[in-house]
Amino acid sequence: MQILHPFAGSVQRYSEEISDPDRYRPDHCPQCEAKHALIGHGFYRRTLVDAAFDGIVRVRRYLCLSCRRTVSLLPEFALPWLRFSVSMIALFLVARLLNGFTLTAAARAAAQTAMPYQRGQFWIRRFQKQAPVLSPALASLTVPAAAPDFVSRALRMLESIGWITAHRFLFSQLRTHLLGWPVFKMAPARPASLRCPT
Ligand SMILES: [Zn+2]
Repeated sequence: MQILHPFAGSVQRYSEEISDPDRYRPDHCPQCEAKHALIGHGFYRRTLVDAAFDGIVRVRRYLCLSCRRTVSLLPEFALPWLRFSVSMIALFLVARLLNGFTLTAAARAAAQTAMPYQRGQFWIRRFQKQAPVLSPALASLTVPAAAPDFVSRALRMLESIGWITAHRFLFSQLRTHLLGWPVFKMAPARPASLRCPT
């Protein structure tokens, strides 16, 4: 299971701070609710591209001794299964979908001058699909923006809340991904008879 690291700050500071396993050690298991501290379980590595960073970051893992499952603490500037940081994707999407820049100009706005256009189109496609979910989900954080369509409304709300703050809320509270979960990561639908009535 991935939860967000409570640390807020730059990639560089994050890399320094996670060296100490005690610093942000979860004091209970978010999966089985065992009320004991989890034990350090190493790291996994993932790639990340941010404005001033392009490389590998470590993600700290903990193990619950009760349920034997691991919890990883994903830094809040990173999105699961996407290499680019929240801020980079935000800069691109706002430039393209809100300000009407061309794909090339939007990539430049995100400091990605050599970005293949397929990457931008992939983000756009994912965001357009996810926008109808985002606006109502974010309504508890800000007044729904007046906008002609779901995409503009979601973008305006994200701009007003701040993308990282919005991502933290969506991911931690609703397990919602800013660009939608890929099909292979989605939880299989449970049969209706097993669904919780609430
Ligand atoms: Zn557990």
